[in-house]
Parts: sequence; structure tokens; C-alpha cells
Amino acid sequence: MNTVPILGIPVAQTTKSEFVPHVLNELLHTEHAITIVTANPEIIMLAKENHNYERLLKASSYVVADGIGVVIGAKMLGTPIAERIPGYELVHEFMNTAAPGHNRFFFYGAKPGVAQEAAMKAKELYPQIDVVGVCDGYGNDGDGDEVAAKAAVSEPDFIFVATGAPKQEEWIALHKKKFPHTVMMGVGGSFDVLSG
Ligand code: UDP
Repeated sequence: MNTVPILGIPVAQTTKSEFVPHVLNELLHTEHAITIVTANPEIIMLAKENHNYERLLKASSYVVADGIGVVIGAKMLGTPIAERIPGYELVHEFMNTAAPGHNRFFFYGAKPGVAQEAAMKAKELYPQIDVVGVCDGYGNDGDGDEVAAKAAVSEPDFIFVATGAPKQEEWIALHKKKFPHTVMMGVGGSFDVLSG
């Protein structure tokens, strides 16, 4: 997939309607985690200050432009991006299009009870999905090893990580080797919105 460099971060040159089937197709064949960063301007700026974060953004499978600021920035730099792809819309789109055999979701993050509520709402909206595990984003051990172990046992096709940037991308980078057949995406405040 073509990318456009925004302050050194390669941002996918794609649209939501192209990106979702592309990832679903890749999931059928992949032998390694498909990691997705939905980048707003704060994330791009944070990567400028934090070299470890910059490195892990560059090592992600895809960085997509979540945030009109990234789209405007790309245009100003003379490398326009097709469209904005909000993370929250990707959350819905992946659940909406999840096919049998690839419909297992793990929700990690947000305050106690919120991921559970979000999972119930998701199941109401998309009865064909299975939410195979949930975990809140507080009070876990430093590296989140226990959450990763719990998630691995549930064999998810998708892990949505809602612990905010940069935490969510750091957890994904640290544990992605344990999930060779999984889409892992940082989703910020999505569970708060979905549960509400
Ligand atoms: N969050 C969490 N653990 C933490 C810090 C934050 O689970 O240690 C959750 C918080 O409850 C919220 C989510 O992370 O549901 C995203 O927060 P925010 O909206 O600040 O993230 P952004 O969308 O700006 O990345």
C-alpha cells in the first residue's frame, strides 16, 4: 500500500472502503500481527519528541490518518491523502464486515466495566461477532503481560486496545509477536463512545 510521509511517519494513502477489505484479505494469509495506528496530529507530534514511539509507529503495519489535522498537514506538504479514516469508524467497520471464521474480538482498555458494556453494545449491533474477552485498562501489571496472556488464550482475530496513546501502541508493539494471526489496533476513547 502506498504511503505519504508526514513529518517522517509513513501514512497510508488509502480510503476506508479500500483499507478495510485490504486488511481482511491480509488477515486470511498473514503469519504475523497486522498492527494499525490511527494517527491524529497529537500522535504524529508525539513521535517527534519520543524516538521510541516514532520507531514503533514506523514498524507498524499501517498508520492511517485519523484526524483532519493530518489530512490538512499532508495537503500543505504537497502530498495529499485521499481521506480521513477515523479509528472509531474502523472499529465499527471491522465488526460489521467480520466474516465467519474471523469474527473473534478482544476488547482491552478503558475504565472498569466500560469494555464489558462496549462488548454488549457491539454484540447487539453486530450479532455475528464473538467478543471472546474483555479487560479494563487500569490496574494491570506494568508491561501488560497478564492481559496479553489472557488475550492469547482467547485466540482473537482482532484486538482493540483502548488505553490511549502512546500506551496502546506500546502494548501492541511489545506483545504483537504473540499474535501472528491477529489485527491489533489502538482505538483511544472508542469504548467510552460505544458503551455510552
Ligand atoms: N485509559 C486506560 N488506561 C490508562 C489510561 C487511559 O484504559 O491507563 C483509557 C481511558 O479510560 C479512555 C482511553 O484510554 O477510555 C482513551 O483515552 P483518550 O481519549 O485520552 O485517548 P485518545 O483517544 O486521545 O488517544
